[in-house]
Amino acid sequence: MKRNTWQREAVREALTSTEGFISAQGLHLSLHETGSPIGLATVYRALADLAAEGDADSLQSPDGESLYRACTTGHHHHLICRNCGLTVEIEADAVEQWAQAAAASHGFTQAQHVVDVFGLCANCSRPA
Ligand SMILES: [Zn+2]
Ligand SMILES: [Zn+2]
Ligand SMILES: [Zn+2]
Repeated sequence: MKRNTWQREAVREALTSTEGFISAQGLHLSLHETGSPIGLATVYRALADLAAEGDADSLQSPDGESLYRACTTGHHHHLICRNCGLTVEIEADAVEQWAQAAAASHGFTQAQHVVDVFGLCANCSRPA
């Protein structure tokens, strides 16, 4: 069942205009700053819905926070700067082949995987 409320559209728009991955709290804050009355619980729910339907990517940050981003469609991986949040979408053919082979060698079918790389981007790696 698809609920297309204005809250959800507002969350989708805010997410689309955000460059990198963002937490529900971060998105709620930026919505709040533009004068939107949307509550945090609604933002959480809308983000979970968008992710469940494939309209947003979600991942866990190294400290366990759920982060969301409106990505391109199709399977891909992410490079994420843990300092500034810069996100690069990457393809990783070697990972695809390895994951398939590793699953198959143990008799697994319909294997899926999530591989995201956290680090410091070129800018943030530069000495100040
Ligand atoms: Zn993505
Ligand atoms: Zn950075
Ligand atoms: Zn992959």
